Amino acid sequence: MTARYLIIGSGFSGCVLANSLVQNLDCKIDIWDERAHLGGNCHTSRDEETGVMVHRYGPHIFNTDKKEIWDFVNSFVEFKPYVHRVKAQSKGKTYSLPINLFTINQFFNKNFSPAEAREFLATLGDKSITDPQNFEEQALHFIGADLYKAFFYGYTKKQWGCEPKALPASILKRIPVRFNYDDNYHTHSYTGIPVDGYTAVMEKMIDLPGIELSLNKKFTAKTDVGEYDHVFYTGPLDAYFDYCYGRLGYRTVTFEKFYAEGDYQGLSQMNYCDEEVPYTRIAEHKHFTPWEQHDKTVYFKEFSKETGKDDLPYYPKRLEADKELLKKYRKKAEELESVSFLGRLATYRYMDMHHVIGEAMEFSKKFILSMNSNETLPVFSNIEQ
Ligand code: UDP
Repeated sequence: MTARYLIIGSGFSGCVLANSLVQNLDCKIDIWDERAHLGGNCHTSRDEETGVMVHRYGPHIFNTDKKEIWDFVNSFVEFKPYVHRVKAQSKGKTYSLPINLFTINQFFNKNFSPAEAREFLATLGDKSITDPQNFEEQALHFIGADLYKAFFYGYTKKQWGCEPKALPASILKRIPVRFNYDDNYHTHSYTGIPVDGYTAVMEKMIDLPGIELSLNKKFTAKTDVGEYDHVFYTGPLDAYFDYCYGRLGYRTVTFEKFYAEGDYQGLSQMNYCDEEVPYTRIAEHKHFTPWEQHDKTVYFKEFSKETGKDDLPYYPKRLEADKELLKKYRKKAEELESVSFLGRLATYRYMDMHHVIGEAMEFSKKFILSMNSNETLPVFSNIEQ
């Protein structure tokens, strides 16, 4: 008998899963999204005034080391090569990011070779910190106080709304330090931007018989789960349970839009590292598609704040109290029947697009295997560590 599945959320998790399940199992799939558009926080659409393709929820650059994931996304639309080069302003000067040989030479007014810079930085790192336990210790240990204060302290305090000491070291580990002039913000082998934006990728993924998308449709666990053979939930885990134990901490992002003629800042992303500047970065989206021509430009100042009741959750904070709460919610979820949880919000993790896509691909394989062998169906797409 044809199974009926419901997927909550039309971001990459939901779309990758729908694409795979409908082709491998005898099923019909409804995807519901409470927003008015497809694609979750990866949604893109053209700006009404300039025609520039805008990443509506902030810059998204696709990058991965896994050929399987790169081939998968490229099978839906064309991706053009794009290398993300970010600059940062600190105390009135513009620097190259991530910290590389150019940044070090500029910042310390030196002319170091790679080996000299490596040696120099080793003398700056605080070696009394042997096993860095948090963001600040990780930074002080590897780059020392001056570079930390110039590039990370203020930005991180604005971005996360707390002292960097309270944050996990893993957040800083996203960003490399290089002893050469490579200023590619990312370290992955495959990197690019879809020519028609990310929404087009997801549109193609779910353009299959048996998949139906409903927008502006709110899900309520109490009433909607029983109608389906299985529900795949990609929304916030605490929301699924009506926040019964309290709210998981998230930062949200707000944007202020501006227009200008020509080119406003000369690149796609400028970070503002000083605490006194209220925004974290400015993204000028025409630079994400250097193959397009636009006379006018649109850019967005990005502000970070604590997530209120009606705000969209962006960055999971994962402070100690959050992790305790997460354990309780996961336990409650494990007790449910016929519901699975996957993706950034349902697993409460800071994930990039390629992580989300890779995990949804793996999860769907597991689910299909379990269905075909009558084994217990997986509840979460990850094991919480
Ligand atoms: N970060 C910083 N200064 C910068 C860029 C990043 O302090 O100029 C820190 C900040 O805590 C941020 C983290 O590094 O949250 C990860 O940065 P990334 O650029 O990966 O953030 P995303 O693009 O995901 O917001």
